[in-house]
Amino acid sequence: MMSTALLDLKGLGIRFGGLVAVDGVDLTIRPSTITCIIGPNGAGKSTLFNLITGIYRPTSGQVLLKGEDITGQPAYRIAEKGIARTFQSSRLFDDLSILDNVIIGMHARTRTGVLTALLRPARAKRELEACAVEAEEILRVISDELYQRRYEPAGILPQADRRRLEIARALALKPQLILLDEPSSGMDDRDTAALMADIRRVMADRPGLSFLIIEHDMRLVADLPETVVVIDYGKKIAEGPFAEVRLMPRVQQAYLGQ
Ligand code: ADP
Ligand code: MG
Repeated sequence: MMSTALLDLKGLGIRFGGLVAVDGVDLTIRPSTITCIIGPNGAGKSTLFNLITGIYRPTSGQVLLKGEDITGQPAYRIAEKGIARTFQSSRLFDDLSILDNVIIGMHARTRTGVLTALLRPARAKRELEACAVEAEEILRVISDELYQRRYEPAGILPQADRRRLEIARALALKPQLILLDEPSSGMDDRDTAALMADIRRVMADRPGLSFLIIEHDMRLVADLPETVVVIDYGKKIAEGPFAEVRLMPRVQQAYLGQ
């Protein structure tokens, strides 16, 4: 079992003063899988993402990536090791082009820094061109329309395309795992259906890639993941296929209590 785990959380937790925001969460993610996290507002879902990605340092427990303990490592190193994410609120550079927003996602794994650009401009230029080609490939997989509009500023995009672009930027990291925090927020039915198709297409394009998705749209949660995890008051209270999880009394209680 150990050898097939991509991500392993063991008793993961964090306390903010008197508040235990995430409380001893155990979770295993395997390669090529989709897992959705659901739970009431304030349950600790986004905080769990911040623990996995190194934005917060846990006060208890461990994060293992393919068996390697990455607990408490800085966010940039965890990104380098292959965990990419999007945030609950959009974090695009509106003034930069769609293409440049994807290229920025590669910085965690390219060596070209300011010094290279100054001292070895020819090499820096070559590397940037290679990045642009790769970013164009990623845009094509995500959306032909985004690819066609790649030189336009990201700021003009509607919400659904912004989400799509954020996923493209996450893919630029060549991750093994992508964490999406409420990707369907602000989307209508059609956009949400398209988002699900996007995620399935990306998975087909990247063997081994897994998704961990915080989601509140139950149509998506019912359709997309093989496993649903329910968080309430920082604790994992249920895990399994949606059809089973939704019938559990503890889960129904957590939602009725909202
Ligand atoms: P969710 O994403 O499930 O809606 P969050 O993870 O954002 O919930 O928040 C869980 C709890 O942790 C909330 O009570 C929130 O106020 C608290 N919290 C999150 N981040 C911090 C922080 N940096 N300092 C103090 N409390 C925090
Ligand atoms: Mg949240």
